[in-house]
Amino acid sequence: MLQAAITGARQASLIERPAPQAREHWAVVKITVAPMCTEYKAWLQGQPADHLGHEAVGEVVEVAQPGRVRVGDRVVVQPGYGCGRCRHCLAGDHIHCQRGSGPAQFYGQPLGTATYAQYLVKPDWLLSPIPDELSDELAGLALCGLGPSYGAFQRMRVTALDTVLITGLGPVGLGGVVNASFRGARVIGVDSNTFRRGLAERLGASLTLDPLDPELPAKIAAATAGEGVDAALDCAGALPAQRLLIDATRRRGQVTYVAEANHELPIRISPDLVRKGLTVNGSWHYNLNDYAGIGQVLQRSPTVAQMITHRFALREVQDAFATLAEQQTGKVLLLPWA
Ligand SMILES: [Zn+2]
Ligand SMILES: [Zn+2]
Repeated sequence: MLQAAITGARQASLIERPAPQAREHWAVVKITVAPMCTEYKAWLQGQPADHLGHEAVGEVVEVAQPGRVRVGDRVVVQPGYGCGRCRHCLAGDHIHCQRGSGPAQFYGQPLGTATYAQYLVKPDWLLSPIPDELSDELAGLALCGLGPSYGAFQRMRVTALDTVLITGLGPVGLGGVVNASFRGARVIGVDSNTFRRGLAERLGASLTLDPLDPELPAKIAAATAGEGVDAALDCAGALPAQRLLIDATRRRGQVTYVAEANHELPIRISPDLVRKGLTVNGSWHYNLNDYAGIGQVLQRSPTVAQMITHRFALREVQDAFATLAEQQTGKVLLLPWA
């Protein structure tokens, strides 16, 4: 089968690899859509990699034993490899499993882990069935498109009564705009990228702001009667955005971080937490029991399809990376069989 590899700085090409095979409860999925995520950063830096991607949708083409999927099933491939037995896996939070192991451990080699490829293998319980009404392309947004913000909004119980601040309007932040708008919440989006601010407005944001605008805090205050937003979500991962969440959220409000970052964020215990009564959450992906709810958003949101702005065949992966690096996109899809 074909899969993509990064071979140098701003260089990607296709390589041949043996297709993975089903074994025990691991099923083979023929990948029809591979949504692209942050892999272009490795392409920009020239970090060699031949197992790329963590988002995929496809069709089950081989099983080794009767189980939770059958040949012909259309499925969303959930990220990661939970053990299936620990408290987190049993609760639907396989993403937080500490004992999960992938094909490298189970098969003795890392074959079938990439999503920028034509086939993969996955434990059957991490293959979520796609409703007939939903296309493979839209179903692909049940991963890093709508997923992180859906998990965060469940955690913060975001409703139509809320004004939600979203920092960072890349694909994850844009998914947040769709999810918050679907819930009837009012959305304020922050990003320096004018293309993405415009797309956020088309997806339902009522106000978008530039983080470099010196009037930014005042404009958020003015939009919320001086109180601050009810809930805030960071999809930017940059320190000023992370700090803005704390400053722009009202007393007794909630903030959630979904963007990855390894630096420290200064928080003052009394003014920021104790006296403000603020709740601070970290959230990664979503609980598997929320998959059906995300399916409802995908089927009923009037704007969600506009999140997908570009499609490339797998053999065009070089052009796909170059396009992503320009940051004038919503979600970009790789199509391994186009
Ligand atoms: Zn587990
Ligand atoms: Zn992703």
